[in-house]
Amino acid sequence: MSASFAMITLGCAKNEVDSNRMRALLVAANYVEKDDPTDADLVIVNTCAFITAATEEAIATILEAADLPRVKDYTSKLVVTGCLSSRYEHKAIANDSHKDTNTDNTSGDNNNDVLGMPLLAPTSELERELPEVSAFVSVANEDNIVAIANALLNIQNAKAPNELQTDLGVSKFIRNNESDTMAKSSDFNLGVSGAQVARIVDAPWAYIKIADGCSRRCSFCTIPAIRGPYRSFKADEILAEANFLVNGGVRELILIAQDTGLWHDKERGWNLAKLLDELATLYKDTWIRVMYLQPQGVTQELLLVMQRHSNICNYLDIPLQHASPEILLQMNRSGSGNEYLKLLAQIRDVLPDVSLRTTMIAGFPGETRLEAQASEKFIDQAGFNYVGVFEYSQEEGTKAAALTKQVPKKTAMARAQRLRDIADVHGFAQSEELVGKTLDVLVCGICEEGFYGRTQGMAPEVDGLLYIINDDKKSVDAAEPKFKIGDIIVVQVTQSVLYELYGIVQ
Ligand code: SF4
Repeated sequence: MSASFAMITLGCAKNEVDSNRMRALLVAANYVEKDDPTDADLVIVNTCAFITAATEEAIATILEAADLPRVKDYTSKLVVTGCLSSRYEHKAIANDSHKDTNTDNTSGDNNNDVLGMPLLAPTSELERELPEVSAFVSVANEDNIVAIANALLNIQNAKAPNELQTDLGVSKFIRNNESDTMAKSSDFNLGVSGAQVARIVDAPWAYIKIADGCSRRCSFCTIPAIRGPYRSFKADEILAEANFLVNGGVRELILIAQDTGLWHDKERGWNLAKLLDELATLYKDTWIRVMYLQPQGVTQELLLVMQRHSNICNYLDIPLQHASPEILLQMNRSGSGNEYLKLLAQIRDVLPDVSLRTTMIAGFPGETRLEAQASEKFIDQAGFNYVGVFEYSQEEGTKAAALTKQVPKKTAMARAQRLRDIADVHGFAQSEELVGKTLDVLVCGICEEGFYGRTQGMAPEVDGLLYIINDDKKSVDAAEPKFKIGDIIVVQVTQSVLYELYGIVQ
């Protein structure tokens, strides 16, 4: 009988991509996916540990999973992957031989031999704190999930990780112990040419990770420590993945990375603009969206490519974080509110109807009232469609955590709320301006109110939705649709409520 697994994913879109790859690898190796972790032989919690709140959520989820009856008696194995394992790893993945009393390890293998990886030091903080966890798998080792699962469940005749990767052509991710190589390499280059890419997606849209890691070193951020330096994935691999997804029915490809603007393929001499151009030309009936573009990556070349292709979403997500040049300097970032306003004007000049999203941090160490007001004034002038506002979070090991003038939490929260209130005024007004307009909408799913979708100006999971209604203002009956999930239909917007839109099919 096939072994089973359940996957619990926390955190951002990048983690979702990683989870989907692990799911695909396990399914290809004959594992059966279960929705309910209670029944699974292997429970995987793919964690986020980007900030303290995410770490706390990850630990709470792990403890919940550790409480499952089969995990408690070690007949089911609990595996923690993702940022938590990477952020707190002291060497590599753990073995659980010291605590597993129920498994007959007749193979004579110990996990160390099977995987060829160093054991986690028994003094590891994570291992001490979470003894129910059978293995902590760092981001760099996630593509070995099948070998790890086989070893933990004592599945015989398991394929070696590299054999398996060749079979599946999964090539983007780091193999055993490549974290060291990764740190030295600016280009990620593990390509298997002509690869078919294993991915499981459940929606008409899918994320494609075009790079991993970050070399920018913003002083508040743990990502470079967790994910290592920036490395672009090869164009061949991205194109293979796009092809796989579009052939599988995906109608929107969303390019993500910690900083998409830095993407390049040296061999081909391609940058992000060229990659977008290529994808938009190859897949004319598919939307292409780019997320997480640092301001330095917004070039005239990129804007002109976006202008040229109607299937590249008229949308830009540019994390700016603050408007005060002094605070930006302390953040190890560059620019100022005024420079950013010029950049936004340049963008709107080329893409007049573009939808714009940013993120801002309130309460960074040393932020004075005046500096907080600089961000407020900037958000008021910039007129973003969507703004994600975060209170600064003091993260162990970052440069900003050591700064002396930490802003009291209450003050940071109040400043963040002011920013949100200002952003909402503009965001709601931008939504209201769409009433009466006719827009293309990707039908994404069905909810209680009927079908819903998104316009090019709405990214999944972070922005608003558009609900499709009849002209009598009642929801379209999901039982007799004139369209299906995955269709791109034309809708006239009839109403806006906060960030949500309602519209009638044309
Ligand atoms: S650009 Fe800055 S905030 Fe974004 S991942 Fe890199 S270091 Fe972190």
